[in-house]
Amino acid sequence: MRYVSTRGTAPVLDFAAVTLAGLAGDGGLYLPESWPKLDLDTIRGLAGKSYVETAVTVMTPFVGDALTTDELRELCTTAYGRFSHAAVTPLVQLDHDQWLLELFHGPTLAFKDVALQALGLFFEKFLKGRSDRLTVVGATSGDTGSAAIDALAGRDGVDIFMLHPAGRVSDVQRRQMTTVLAPNVYNIAIDGSFDDAQALVKAMFNDPAFSDRFALSAVNSINWARLMAQVVYYFYAAVRLGGPDRPVAFSVPTGNFGDVFAGYVAARMGLPIAKLIVATNVNDILHRALTLGDYSKGQVQQTPTPSMDIQVSSNFERLLFDLGGRDGHALAAQMAGFESTGAMRLTNAQSQGAAGLFVSDRVDLDDMALAMRWAHERAGQIIDPHTAIALAAARRAGGNTPMVTLATAHPAKFRDAVERATGQGSPLPARVGDLFEREERYVSLPGTFDAVTAYIAEHATPAAVRA
Ligand SMILES: *Cc1c(COP(=O)(O)O)cnc(C)c1O
Repeated sequence: MRYVSTRGTAPVLDFAAVTLAGLAGDGGLYLPESWPKLDLDTIRGLAGKSYVETAVTVMTPFVGDALTTDELRELCTTAYGRFSHAAVTPLVQLDHDQWLLELFHGPTLAFKDVALQALGLFFEKFLKGRSDRLTVVGATSGDTGSAAIDALAGRDGVDIFMLHPAGRVSDVQRRQMTTVLAPNVYNIAIDGSFDDAQALVKAMFNDPAFSDRFALSAVNSINWARLMAQVVYYFYAAVRLGGPDRPVAFSVPTGNFGDVFAGYVAARMGLPIAKLIVATNVNDILHRALTLGDYSKGQVQQTPTPSMDIQVSSNFERLLFDLGGRDGHALAAQMAGFESTGAMRLTNAQSQGAAGLFVSDRVDLDDMALAMRWAHERAGQIIDPHTAIALAAARRAGGNTPMVTLATAHPAKFRDAVERATGQGSPLPARVGDLFEREERYVSLPGTFDAVTAYIAEHATPAAVRA
């Protein structure tokens, strides 16, 4: 399988290269050159298969000959063996047709583990035997950072620098990052929002001198391999609810548009999906884009769902590219306009293409809290605030297909918000229970390009020295 950039000029890469590169050199994002299809019999055949076997079937066409089937199976077995539930991503029934897909049984209690546990192992595999090392740089609104750090801590050949917005991630989220004391892990708290942190990371990648000097790589959901790993659970859930012979709908709490884009990929591969609900909080740029064609930045508002407090959704570019006839030069011009003015209109092709599968909804704090109470009182489930945003949207959407809400974080990660809404505490699972006793380590820096790159330059090893 070959991968092309959404902006048309970066080199075409194979799976190993695309995994190590993350962002494309022309500022775009990589996508497979064409969508592989799974026929209906193959999808039916997934019904009795384990999560790992499902992952092998779904990932094989994307991985191409970068790994043998046995290598891929071994890697998935290791990655998903670290999950605390034997089903990896179990389904829980809430009422007649509402379901939760619990994606938070990994080591850091958020759905990002599903992709990053695999990505850490892909990195190790593809770096083995090479003399150069990687410098992974990322920005996190909370969950990506801890999941990436857990996946890369102590691994050979990689340093990881993780930027988080100071004071805007929960205590549990911060401690899950800053209490990992492995020597290759560097946590940076910056003054500013998640969007500021993400813009800094993008600027580093777009600076060829800096990016080449330190062999930068990305683990944000701009990395294709992460999205690929997330496609698996759409298949896993759908076949358990009657798919592919019965379409299933999904409601996804959305920030950077990675998780819900993986659902789009599943649909392009042939999984019958009735609809994908893009559920946003009051930071509703995606809701405006999908309902009005208006993709324009507002001010980020802080909410109890920090992983969705986003005004620029990187992965939306992948959808716009795919729906806009895969014209990299046209998309590069459209994105350049957005980057200079903070606003753009979707083309008719983009709007109409999206309308075939996506619907969107914006959920405010009251409706979020109501959904948490409903889940607790009617179904005995304590859910986290992100999940509650998507559940509120799922319940409003109605319809008579099975509706799966993606449960993206363990409620204990956001226990204050959970307690306010439901009056219920939510203890941390035993395996992370001593988090508040552990030592923390991080630096605080101003949110400027110079401050952050100077810190990285001081602590990372330049590629030339490594070679
Ligand atoms: C990252 C995250 C999201 C948003 O996922 P995207 O892929 O960025 O859309 C939602 N909920 C939680 C708990 C997350 O960590």
